[in-house]
Amino acid sequence: EAKEGGRNRVCLFSEQREAQMHSRTSLVQELANAIQQGELMLYYQPQFRPDGSLHGAEALLRWRSPSRGLVAPGDFISLAEETGLILSIGDWVLNTACRHLRQIQRSGLHDDQCSLSVNISPRQFADPAFLSKVEQALTSHAAPAQGLKLELTESSLFHDMDHAIEILGQLREQGIGIELDDFGTGYSSLSYLKRLPLDALKLDGSLIADVVSDARDLAILRAAITMAKTLSLTVIAEGVETNEQRAFLTSEGCDLLQGYLLARPMPFDDLEALIERAARQRSQDPTSEPAHQ
Ligand code: C2E
Ligand code: MG
Ligand code: MG
Ligand code: MG
Repeated sequence: EAKEGGRNRVCLFSEQREAQMHSRTSLVQELANAIQQGELMLYYQPQFRPDGSLHGAEALLRWRSPSRGLVAPGDFISLAEETGLILSIGDWVLNTACRHLRQIQRSGLHDDQCSLSVNISPRQFADPAFLSKVEQALTSHAAPAQGLKLELTESSLFHDMDHAIEILGQLREQGIGIELDDFGTGYSSLSYLKRLPLDALKLDGSLIADVVSDARDLAILRAAITMAKTLSLTVIAEGVETNEQRAFLTSEGCDLLQGYLLARPMPFDDLEALIERAARQRSQDPTSEPAHQ
């Protein structure tokens, strides 16, 4: 690469660029192999009702890379999205979650008490085969559609509203729940939201972080909850980290809580154990059966 002595800075820059490009290329290659190598895993973070009973869990992708260790989705999802790898990764996620959903059901211990939600990226949602892929994942694992929720973000839904409305309507007709993720980080307006066939809003953790100490955050959060209730949507709070936040969110009318305070994302086996414990408690003390939301 070196050309002349006087252009060292340029050389240095291009070497750095090249190193970056190289590491990007190898990351893409490793990620492309990760599925076949069985390196992807789903963790699950439980969601609870205000009375403490288990409602469901969100599937969160993890990559167990032999060279990089346990990689969080923040470090590879956007690259997967750019390169299109998200389509095969997303298929794997959907199929794995449906297999787990069936497994929870088959254990016989749960009576529709635990649903699983799956994050869907914009590129997946835009895939013309998306709807049939979801249907196929459910049928090939004999999983109940009523137990599956899909989490979508504004970026998936707002650029072609008519298309989104059509697809969401068809998903909901089958009993699949639709949740708007990361609410409060984008531009959502009431006029957009009222057109979309949704079941739930997930309040982003950033809205909740300072809600106890910051009057403006509190006002925004109240407005968001009021808006969701006006549209008859279930309100899910994510990123709940403190008891104060939990008490506040519950008093403001949040239907479901998710966050490190209640439970960290965990491997599927641990979720199964949690579901079994919850079911055993219910059967030991049927009078404490919580009211359904
Ligand atoms: P998300 O869907 O909004 O998921 C919530 C994120 O917040 C998760 O990060 C979760 O581990 C984290 N979290 C949960 N409770 C707390 C808390 O109390 N405090 C804090 N600070 N964080 C908390 P994670 O697992 O790293 O996932 C990050 C994002 O990656 C997700 O955000 C989602 O957008 C994306 N993602 C994860 N799995 C998938 C997947 O299977 N497919 C797609 N397309 N995207 C995924
Ligand atoms: Mg999510
Ligand atoms: Mg979120
Ligand atoms: Mg997010």
